[in-house]
Amino acid sequence: MKNEEKKPTAAELPAGGIVEAGTAAQFKTGPWRSIKPVWSKEKCKACMICWIYCPDASIQVADGKVTGIDYDHCKGCGICSKECKFGAITMEAEKK
Ligand code: SF4
Ligand code: SF4
Repeated sequence: MKNEEKKPTAAELPAGGIVEAGTAAQFKTGPWRSIKPVWSKEKCKACMICWIYCPDASIQVADGKVTGIDYDHCKGCGICSKECKFGAITMEAEKK
């Protein structure tokens, strides 16, 4: 038996939801972490590799040097620690 139900055209479908752009900073994703990066100022050579690789822009920088980690947004992926060739970022268990 053939389905005779008329399907809506694209123009007849309701408009999809469009969220405001540039709002990622408002969403604190830090609580997602199970492990966190711990940065050592003493070991850091300011090569900025961690800043380049961090997918969440969570490496804090001032005057071309790392100053810390933005724990409000860092998801604890560990990429910065893996890429740092100077052992300046270690991953530690997150205390909840
Ligand atoms: S990759 Fe390591 S040495 Fe380079 S800026 Fe980052 S923490 Fe410092
Ligand atoms: S753990 Fe991942 S999200 Fe957090 S600072 Fe390092 S690279 Fe960025």
